[in-house]
Amino acid sequence: MLNSTDKIIYLALFFLFFVVRKYYTGKYRTKKLHKSKVNILDIVLLTLDGIAMVLPLVYVFSDILDFADYNRPFLVNFPGIIILTTAIVTLWFSHHDLSSNWTPTLGIKEDHKLIKTGVYKYIRHPMYTAHILWSIGQIAVLPNWIAGFSFIIITVPHLLSRIKDEEEMMIEQFGEEYKNYKKTTGIIFPKIKSTLNR
Ligand code: SAH
Repeated sequence: MLNSTDKIIYLALFFLFFVVRKYYTGKYRTKKLHKSKVNILDIVLLTLDGIAMVLPLVYVFSDILDFADYNRPFLVNFPGIIILTTAIVTLWFSHHDLSSNWTPTLGIKEDHKLIKTGVYKYIRHPMYTAHILWSIGQIAVLPNWIAGFSFIIITVPHLLSRIKDEEEMMIEQFGEEYKNYKKTTGIIFPKIKSTLNR
């Protein structure tokens, strides 16, 4: 069970992540899709992602998951909070930079542009970086086998399968431009060498 301070900190960070997401998805959802590459596996995993993100709220607001609690050093909270905050900032920058080219499921928007600036200058999938960071931070701040680990178990396999399909789709759409873009960027974290040489 979390103490009140831990609950408030987690809820405040969760709220910020949610607000950033909702603000940008609401802003850009209306722009029409030109091509859709939706597949059933992606939709199933997307739904499970949502459930896995809600389980921590069940943990915070009730005691039904308390049977899966474990003890860990209190200090682990601090890197956890830093990681969750980094996830929020990364999500914010990536939504801002991707702007109306964002799609909830795989697809190409009308008048879709390949973004290679801002955070996309260094990483091809910063939004997924934000989700992976969130899933790691969640483990650190929630000492519970179910609430803490639920998101990482679903999101990592989901994003790995999505990245493969997404990059194939982007190559189909942008050809050499995307192939060249891949050479200078990291998938989830920046390429150390190319970043230093810039
Ligand atoms: N994978 C990216 C984007 C997630 S949103 C990230 O993690 O930040 C998914 C949609 O973004 C895809 O359907 C694709 O159309 C679009 N997309 C991905 N990379 C892009 C880029 N560099 N420029 C423009 N659109 C991109």
